[in-house]
Amino acid sequence: MKPISILEDRKNQVFTKGDDEFDISCGKKSLAGSVSQRACVFCGSRVVLYPITDALHLVHGPIGCASYTWDIRGALSSGPELHRMSFSTDLSGTDIIYGGEKKLEKALFELIDIYRPKAAFVYCTCIVGIIGDDVAAVCKKVEAKAGIPVLPVHSEGFKGTKKDGYKAACDALFSLIDRSREEIPEKIPLSINILGEFNIGGETWIIREYYKRMGIEVVSVMTGDSRVEDFSSSHRACLNVVQCSGSLTCLAQKMEKEYGIPFIRVSYFGIEDTSKALYDVASFFPDRPDIMEKTALLVREEVAAILPELYEIKADLKGKRAAIYVGGAFKAFSLIKALKHLGMEVVLVGSQTGNKEDYALLKDMCNPGTVILDDANPLELAKYVLEKDAHLFIGGVKEKPIAYKLGLGFCDHNHERKIPLAGFEGMKNFAREIHETVSSPVWDLVPRKCFVDVLK
Ligand code: SF4
Repeated sequence: MKPISILEDRKNQVFTKGDDEFDISCGKKSLAGSVSQRACVFCGSRVVLYPITDALHLVHGPIGCASYTWDIRGALSSGPELHRMSFSTDLSGTDIIYGGEKKLEKALFELIDIYRPKAAFVYCTCIVGIIGDDVAAVCKKVEAKAGIPVLPVHSEGFKGTKKDGYKAACDALFSLIDRSREEIPEKIPLSINILGEFNIGGETWIIREYYKRMGIEVVSVMTGDSRVEDFSSSHRACLNVVQCSGSLTCLAQKMEKEYGIPFIRVSYFGIEDTSKALYDVASFFPDRPDIMEKTALLVREEVAAILPELYEIKADLKGKRAAIYVGGAFKAFSLIKALKHLGMEVVLVGSQTGNKEDYALLKDMCNPGTVILDDANPLELAKYVLEKDAHLFIGGVKEKPIAYKLGLGFCDHNHERKIPLAGFEGMKNFAREIHETVSSPVWDLVPRKCFVDVLK
């Protein structure tokens, strides 16, 4: 088997720590023809707004865009489940010639009449940007008649990277917050908003419970298990706590500017980062030492409950090698720390949307020889996973087939997971999952070992 080569124009987005001079190129459009793992702008918006469970989500475009993102997050709801439907205007050739505005208006009225949502989001796809439908005007007209917020999401797929999709979603979300907000200026004492937590496997409920035990009120979560009504008071929170910083920082910045709410960046993956997140929030309320005391007690109890099992798992995982490829670099930081706790070595790490500072930090955190990639494609991932002889791949839905085809264990840390991986309980679930995967005897029966032997 011949070693896999990488495209010439991609060479400055792939580095090996210790071997190359580190000046990674990132934050740019994907190279045409490289078959990037990155999602499009529209998909970036869709994943951020998707967990608003009582809103209508209408994809204005061809049916393929809607099917691509249908139930994409599987975000759990404790109530309505309207978000799990994938509505589309199903634009065809005739609409593209004559315009899709009438079809959009008709679809909105029909769907609002049937499903009675509390708000509606209309996602613009590539073709809508090309034919120039005035989606904002249609939304305004429908909003005036239907009496609910109807918000355009300017997420035309071709107009940038997934990050531009996050920004389009933040703009729409801010518009909803601003439109639905109550005219009560006072802050809610000891309160926070949680940003960038999507309740994929029930994480929102775990994190909410921690804050409840600390004596902190969670005003709204953007956007895990969310209701439109939750946003009416979010401008009154004392602090915004941003987890998926790649996606929601722009909203936090806007809320800081407009409502004077400061924000901090946190992560709830792994023991270290979860503890730090809770302590950081507690220390935001220095006049209330009782909150810090409750936080310390919570952390002590939760860590003591999971440590014995983690030590047992560590004995089996010690020295095993892991590859990480995720959407935002902030998650990669936490995963590296969590894997170190379990005695594992990270041999590849990359992200879809990291910036220069993120990659510099990743470089500092990794051992010499670790491959660092920005905006990778399947061939590059396959190449380095084989060359580094990884035992485990942590990624999302598009990395899963790569791992399984190459014959190595996989852990979904993105949309498709069914168990919560956040908080202390999440760390225990994460450790159990990778232990089961990596230790499975099935990997002795699949071809990875032959590929690796040929490469050696
Ligand atoms: S918006 Fe464009 S890039 Fe995204 S799924 Fe639709 S056609 Fe594809």
